[in-house]
Amino acid sequence: MTLNTFAPKSGEETGKRIARLSAGSSVAVIGAGAFGGWTALNLLRKGYDVTLIDTWGPGNSRSSSGDETRVIRSTYGANEFYFDLNVRALTLWKEHEARWKTKLFQNKGVLWMCYQAYTPVVDESIPFAEKHNMRYERLSREEIIKRYAIVNTDDLSHAWLDPYGGCLRAREACQAVYKGFIAEGGMVVQAQVIPGKLEQNRLTSLQLSNGQSFHADLYIFACGSWLGKLFPGVLGNTITCTKQEVYYFGAPLDNPAPYENFPVWVDVDGKDFYYGIPGNSYRGFKVGVDERGEPFDPTHGDRISNPDVLSKARKFLAHRFPGLKDAPLIENRVCPYENSPDGNFLFDHHPEAGNLFFLGGGSGHGFKHGPALGELVSEIIAGDKAIPELFLLRK
Ligand SMILES: Cc1cc2nc3c(=O)[nH]c(=O)nc-3n(C[C@H](O)[C@H](O)[C@H](O)COP(=O)(O)OP(=O)(O)OC[C@H]3O[C@@H](n4cnc5c(N)ncnc54)[C@H](O)[C@@H]3O)c2cc1C
Repeated sequence: MTLNTFAPKSGEETGKRIARLSAGSSVAVIGAGAFGGWTALNLLRKGYDVTLIDTWGPGNSRSSSGDETRVIRSTYGANEFYFDLNVRALTLWKEHEARWKTKLFQNKGVLWMCYQAYTPVVDESIPFAEKHNMRYERLSREEIIKRYAIVNTDDLSHAWLDPYGGCLRAREACQAVYKGFIAEGGMVVQAQVIPGKLEQNRLTSLQLSNGQSFHADLYIFACGSWLGKLFPGVLGNTITCTKQEVYYFGAPLDNPAPYENFPVWVDVDGKDFYYGIPGNSYRGFKVGVDERGEPFDPTHGDRISNPDVLSKARKFLAHRFPGLKDAPLIENRVCPYENSPDGNFLFDHHPEAGNLFFLGGGSGHGFKHGPALGELVSEIIAGDKAIPELFLLRK
């Protein structure tokens, strides 16, 4: 599979308008992860009667949003759409952590470690960074060593430091959104949903695992990696789920600070695209493997680490951060990627039901965008904006 996490394809932004949903109408949002939670909250603020339904709760351990942390970075190669979406998201993350008095964003910076003199995914974002006055700092090999002595720079050309990025406390953020939604008057239900019948170009109802059925004027399925299985005919080949691994290593006892204080990092030219988030909530030095893993069932799959993937990650770690050569693995997690074919998000209605929408395809980079995406979806539903072309369901 082509790697698409760091730079999904750009699209023409001609967009598609949908009929405005009148204020006061009822909306059911299924899925309380980063996409569904923020969408429900924003729809509520637009004056809709919103119910948020999730099988296992916001930021649960099976969901893609359920890990400790997620990277927030503006860098998206030449793709200005996601750069701008991230800029808006960053503003909204900051506003909401102040509003909810909950620390969600850690402004640790993002260090892009580049092997080549020109690294498109970073270099092509630089004009956007300048436009937004969010400039990156270029570090030569000597400067990397001086500032971050724990890095082996032998195969690096240079690094870029994005001082505006960092990480988000992922599962805690989903729970903060959920609480905020309830506090502002939203309704929540914990149950598994099965879509009901389609009649006359409409979804008629939802069947809930608690035996009840549920009716709304409009339904948004923000079901992450479950979307392909829920709608096999339409999305079976569009949203696919892979097993992804993250590891938490213990920093050396005699010198933990340089590891804990290290920025979020991306080993950008390496073929497996390792990245990491050090030092959040005393969880250890987190290493993520972006190479697509094996197909995975997010409901029934055992969350056991693949020894081959772990051994490759350890080898990389020993190379890039030699002080972690013998670091103990203190925790690990398996999380599902909800891959779209080209790495773009999906927001569109079912081809045979104008009131049934799909929202997903985070493809390993969606979390950070939650607040801005939720805002955009609410504006589309309210008839204020078109669906961006790159979110549309491809035939
Ligand atoms: C290992 C890993 C690393 C990542 N790193 C980053 C990163 O650094 N930065 C970043 O921005 N993004 C990252 N991502 C991507 C990001 O986490 C996802 O794109 C994002 O969390 C997707 O959110 P979601 O709401 O679409 O899906 P989910 O979080 O999976 O939420 C879907 C929800 O739907 C519920 N659900 C499913 N089916 C039903 C049903 N039938 N009835 C009721 N409820 C249902 C589930 O319980 C779940 O809570 C990463 C992902 C992984 C797996």
